[in-house]
Amino acid sequence: MADLLLTNGTVVTMNDDRELIDDGAVVIEGREIVDVGSTDRIEAEYTATDRIDASDHAILPGFISTHVHVSGILLRGLGNYRNLYDWLLNVKRPGTSAMDAEDHAIAAALYSAEALSTGLTTFVENATGSGGSYDASLLEGKFNVYDAAGVRNIYAAAFADKPPSREFVESARDIAMREPEVDHVLPDETVADTQEALDTVESLIERYHGTAEGRQSVWPAPYLATIVTPEGLAGAYALAEKYDVMTTTHTAEDAYNEGSRRVSSVEYLRNAGYLGERALLGHCVQVDEADIRALAVTDTNVAHNTLANCALGSGIAPVPTMVNYGVTVAMGTDNVPNSDSVNMFKDMEFAAHLHKGHNRDAGAITAEKVLEMSTIDAARAIGREDDLGSLEAGKLADLMLVDLDRLTLTPRTYLPAALVYQTTGREVDTVVCNGEIVYDEGRVPGLDGLYDDLQSTAAEASAAVIERAGLGSQRDRTWTSINE
Ligand code: FE
Repeated sequence: MADLLLTNGTVVTMNDDRELIDDGAVVIEGREIVDVGSTDRIEAEYTATDRIDASDHAILPGFISTHVHVSGILLRGLGNYRNLYDWLLNVKRPGTSAMDAEDHAIAAALYSAEALSTGLTTFVENATGSGGSYDASLLEGKFNVYDAAGVRNIYAAAFADKPPSREFVESARDIAMREPEVDHVLPDETVADTQEALDTVESLIERYHGTAEGRQSVWPAPYLATIVTPEGLAGAYALAEKYDVMTTTHTAEDAYNEGSRRVSSVEYLRNAGYLGERALLGHCVQVDEADIRALAVTDTNVAHNTLANCALGSGIAPVPTMVNYGVTVAMGTDNVPNSDSVNMFKDMEFAAHLHKGHNRDAGAITAEKVLEMSTIDAARAIGREDDLGSLEAGKLADLMLVDLDRLTLTPRTYLPAALVYQTTGREVDTVVCNGEIVYDEGRVPGLDGLYDDLQSTAAEASAAVIERAGLGSQRDRTWTSINE
């Protein structure tokens, strides 16, 4: 007998044939999908303990966001008009540094709840420990929340071991001058020893990788190509090979960083031996065709953070060119305070329109490609194509139900386009991760026991963090039609 049977839905399989099954069904046993097909056949062949009638619903693979930061969700709404380093130095770093372990746990709960409510079941969290060391109580608190919520989290344990250049530090001080009230953390204060950083990351992998019924992973993550030594990069790649995981780093996000280099970030990574199928590069906004060729021939993967890149004024990644070269490009939602959202549907629609407009070609990218970038391509980009990203027998049971019986989805002449252009995320009413129902009509049952009122708890924690970090004047911003 199966554990869960979903019937009468339109199954968007994302399998190799990209099959859409009208009046389709999905069978789940334990953590896995064991069959997908027409409701008639499935009903004749299976009985199940639990059933969900998915009439008037699309059944999609759970989304995978390949590049996120979680804790910054408590700083949502601050810094919508700041460029990357202004935001990083004057908002994000001081804000997250003022958070204690409980704040990080609350942020994890808020993030997980919003992720699940919009069909996001897997995310790669880029996280830093100060100076390469990780606070055990902070990690335990955060991981307990992810486990309780039932999400699939990949913790990319970051480190930086290369002192930034004098010019970089000086310009950081110049940017920090803008906000004298803020308790700043400058870039030369968090440089780790290479071997110590790699040892720390390895111990985190040993301890946490594969825990939470297999839902939790840990990767080594040189934080940013330009502030990690070649030894640190090669060491991270070697760790990824040793533990059969991936590694990720921020790459060529903005001109501030990239413009001052004689060797591009992608070249630097290639020369250090970091490019390859186990590498996932966040952003790749400031890349040229030579960089893209290097990514393509080395099978290096890219995490594309459309909304965040635009929100921070960083630029537009050449996604259609990368895709045409055969690079696997996957969607990422990056920092919440940039897009003010965790919602992949928002990023998908924006990405599709952005690349059409930017290339002055309405065929530059398709809705289908954007759906692939959030599901099966994203699974490939995180090295999990064998068990995630599509609805097929043998894959892990991560999926969402999208209610199609809505005004805004009427008519829907072609479902893949409707899912990208007519769906906001609020239509998701049920989400399954690892075979468990983790979101059900507005509730994340796994978080029920942790916080009586998550929204008030998060709002209070956010207000206190803003106060402690000296970010009050940014919260109290008055109406500003034209920035200074
Ligand atoms: Fe990032």
